[in-house]
Amino acid sequence: MRTPIVAGNWKLNKTISEAVELVTALRDLVANVTDVEIVVAPTFTALSAVARALQGSNIRLSAQNIFWEDSGAFTGEISPVMLKDVGCDYVIIGHSERRQYFGETNESVNRKVKAALTHGLKPIICVGERLEDREAGKTKSVVENHVINGIDGLSAEQLLSTVIAYEPVWAIGTGITATPNEAQEVHAFIRSLLLRNYSADVTEQIRIQCGGSVKPDNAVELLTQADIDGALVGGASLEAESFAQIVKAGSG
Ligand code: PEP
Repeated sequence: MRTPIVAGNWKLNKTISEAVELVTALRDLVANVTDVEIVVAPTFTALSAVARALQGSNIRLSAQNIFWEDSGAFTGEISPVMLKDVGCDYVIIGHSERRQYFGETNESVNRKVKAALTHGLKPIICVGERLEDREAGKTKSVVENHVINGIDGLSAEQLLSTVIAYEPVWAIGTGITATPNEAQEVHAFIRSLLLRNYSADVTEQIRIQCGGSVKPDNAVELLTQADIDGALVGGASLEAESFAQIVKAGSG
């Protein structure tokens, strides 16, 4: 049985005080949820204050990006050691916005994934096709490329600490969602890819989140699909009430 994981990706939003206000409201709203893993991913500048505000709660902390070196002359980067130090359990890696605007490649994603795991951080690896890929019938080949290269070289134990987020790029921030059937088909495909290199037992335990305009009104039908194990939520995670509703859609 996989515990669903619902994560809020706040992207480039919220000052420190706004971030603390949001998680303070959220922790009350989801305090009774015990069967969903709840994660928030603030900006780097808010991580420390949010970590303090979350102490003793059932909400885990994630960063939105990472660099693979521990320290050194890498101006502007944040290391796995620093993310652990500030209290992160998770880190989002390879979000489509990072691939599109900041030149992330499957290779850099894989290096980051390995660095995160080495330091005890759990990667949430984002994969997903663009609209032109889907229209050209390339959804599966693009997703396969992202998944296989993103997890390249991971041991079964490392894979078990990894979450995959399937986010069709055309659904992110657009209000257009993949239908539950469309999403389920790709999620089942991703699980079948894992079977190539890992046992059925391991593959069955890997959590695959869906993402792309997940909202309170579509969360239940998505999160009840057989291979959908939670959600990575952008816009709807910026407000405590709507994010809490999505968390609860994954519960029970
Ligand atoms: C995201 O950026 O991970 C995302 C899914 O955004 P949104 O929910 O706003 O589409």
